[in-house]
Amino acid sequence: MSFSSEVKSELARTAFGKSCCASAELAGIIRSCGAIHIEGKGDLGVRLVTENAAVARRIKTLLSERFSADASLLVGEHSFARGRRAYALHLSGKRGGNRILRETDIVKPAGSRRHMEEGLSERFFRKKCCRKALLRGLFLGAGTVSDPKSGYNLELVFADEATAASARKLFGSFTDLKAGVRQRRGRIVVYLKDSEQIKDVLTIMGAHAKLLAFEDVRLMKELRGRTNRVNNCELANVDRALATSSRELDAIQSIRRRNLLDELPSGLLDTALIRLDHPDATLAELGALHTPPIGKSAVSARMKRIEKFAEEG
Ligand SMILES: [Zn+2]
Repeated sequence: MSFSSEVKSELARTAFGKSCCASAELAGIIRSCGAIHIEGKGDLGVRLVTENAAVARRIKTLLSERFSADASLLVGEHSFARGRRAYALHLSGKRGGNRILRETDIVKPAGSRRHMEEGLSERFFRKKCCRKALLRGLFLGAGTVSDPKSGYNLELVFADEATAASARKLFGSFTDLKAGVRQRRGRIVVYLKDSEQIKDVLTIMGAHAKLLAFEDVRLMKELRGRTNRVNNCELANVDRALATSSRELDAIQSIRRRNLLDELPSGLLDTALIRLDHPDATLAELGALHTPPIGKSAVSARMKRIEKFAEEG
């Protein structure tokens, strides 16, 4: 199962919450994966399509438990799912479609007529509990989130601009969430690419188990990145130390070949002999081998004088 499906399966098991929130979630679901049609005699039906079995079950339960509406469930291949299995729920007007559309503010009475609204009702933006449920509904119907192992992307894909604009506004209503919008094959994609923001969305929707899994992978990646940086840095230091040591050894050996070691001042001679015995030691280690011990800057200064002596002597 993909990371996305796992998140949806977890969300499909969360509690429906208060009745205001149940309406908000349902509105999000209908706007993201639903289509409304006229059944004749003024009845309005709703058809909801999802590729996720757990999501289909949640929608069916949400409708029956919280709205006493009975949707028929069809399993089959659907053009939307490009040959993959899809679940279609059909809610007819008489069995609750008319009422559900009113309760989710998708259809509003306008005098003796009815008016079809666009996007998501302001009503669901007023309370934080409803905004969370609305976001969960939109994600269940139109959302995907990449596996953190391969990258950071959470997106909601909509067919209509008004719902996409509502979704963007919804993200913006939470602290530090700023969604981008782009077109893809005639659809509108509302997306987040920042790992911290994606974590926030998983928390808001209530996907706590997947949030932990997401965080584990993210930390692992960060740690690996840091370890590589540290290793590279350490290797660079080692390379530098080795280059210095071999330059010092060259200088000392050239002095020795010319039998000039005895002409070195006694302090420098000590340092040169210690270096010959310890070609891999760091300056600090060389310093500690002196009697009495000297600091690494003193060793460094002596080495410079030895190299100068080798060049001039
Ligand atoms: Zn609420």
